[in-house]
Amino acid sequence: MAEFTMELNDEQKEVRDWLHGFAADVIRPAAAEWDEREETPWPVIQEAAKVGIYSLDFYAQQYFDPTGLGIPMAMEELFWGDAGIALSIVGTGLAAVGVLANGTEEQIGTWIPQMYGDPSDVKVAAFCSSEPDAGSDVASMRTRAVYDEAKDEWVINGTKTWATNGGIANVHVVVAVVDPELGSKGHASFIVPPGTPGLTQGQKFKKHGIRASHTAEVVLDGVRVPGSCLLGGKEKLDERLARARERARQGGERVKNAAMATFEASRPAVGAMAVGTARAAYEVALDYAKTREQFGRPIIDNQGVAFQLADMRTQIDAARLLVWRASWMAVSGKPFTAAEGSMSKLFASETAKKVTAQAVQILGGNGYTREYPVERMHRDAAIYTIFEGTSEIQRLVIARTLSGMPIR
Ligand SMILES: Cc1cc2nc3c(=O)[nH]c(=O)nc-3n(C[C@H](O)[C@H](O)[C@H](O)COP(=O)(O)OP(=O)(O)OC[C@H]3O[C@@H](n4cnc5c(N)ncnc54)[C@H](O)[C@@H]3O)c2cc1C
Repeated sequence: MAEFTMELNDEQKEVRDWLHGFAADVIRPAAAEWDEREETPWPVIQEAAKVGIYSLDFYAQQYFDPTGLGIPMAMEELFWGDAGIALSIVGTGLAAVGVLANGTEEQIGTWIPQMYGDPSDVKVAAFCSSEPDAGSDVASMRTRAVYDEAKDEWVINGTKTWATNGGIANVHVVVAVVDPELGSKGHASFIVPPGTPGLTQGQKFKKHGIRASHTAEVVLDGVRVPGSCLLGGKEKLDERLARARERARQGGERVKNAAMATFEASRPAVGAMAVGTARAAYEVALDYAKTREQFGRPIIDNQGVAFQLADMRTQIDAARLLVWRASWMAVSGKPFTAAEGSMSKLFASETAKKVTAQAVQILGGNGYTREYPVERMHRDAAIYTIFEGTSEIQRLVIARTLSGMPIR
């Protein structure tokens, strides 16, 4: 197990500088255009694929970095470039992690390459869990998967919403209810292969921020997938359901929820995205404050502005430290006894919202226009306190973990 360190090693620094170069030279210059177009930036994804950033190999290398800093460092740099484009690049990773975490070796080998395609024909993937009536309250999920034993097929019906890359994905990973009596423990994940009849895109959302990233409803109407598309396989599912039923019979004894542990491990990555956006806005504001003159001197010469920048930088550094700690804990198998993963996402996302708002203020009228990037960054930052669990849900998880009480 690697010791916790705040120092990137030489190899990590090299990767960071390479990603920073891509973010500065390819992502940042394209950001305003794709934000206005509100379309998936396929040419940028293709560029990322050509240089090796949009690939399972790259993602896996960072994911399995024993220091835990690979993913947060990569997310921070890409999202520093632009949040909407970066989400289009890493969105497939959400679905890939779903398969890596729950799939068999065969499923990983079959489906993940199809999620990414290849540099001459890039593809994306979608992870579909949220539903119109099941956002924070995942246990209210209604999408149903029923096993047709005679054909060894699963039949899926329901409507998913807010799916990043939903409907345009080559491969969709869909979470569905297999045993309604078990709440969230009666859920399972399925691969819906390319071109499966019955899966269609519903409405595509027009969003406040991260507008280059495609977000849409996914309608599943009598979708039939082979038994081999159940992630982890039927035997494992039956064992898991039997254990859950047994626990329910014994009076619903509170057990460590594997899904919760997965969230604790994945939330720091969202925190790192927020750190990237916050840092980008802070840098623009610092430069601007040093060059913009009013009353015959740079505006940073006023404590009212300089102290804001001091606070912004302090909060960004604190957010990064929480993210790195949680990522290191995840990779080292440390128990999240204080919900440190949720803590890092909560603090980093709230920091991004605050810092980008301050950046708009420091740029004055210019900050309010689309001539300057902080306007876009401020809109983009609002997503971090919503997806992958809202700030309120993070607080709920932290409070429950600290108290051991079923706080509502
Ligand atoms: C751009 C975007 C991309 C997304 N991508 C994906 C994706 O790829 N896949 C996917 O499955 N989902 C995705 N989501 C969905 C996202 O995870 C949900 O929006 C999020 O979980 C919140 O659910 P909700 O929108 O239904 O809000 P609700 O759950 O309805 O919450 C509304 C408000 O009530 C508060 N609230 C709810 N319950 C409580 C409580 N118990 N205590 C205190 N406050 C509470 C919330 O914090 C929030 O402020 C995406 C969403 C967006 C906007």
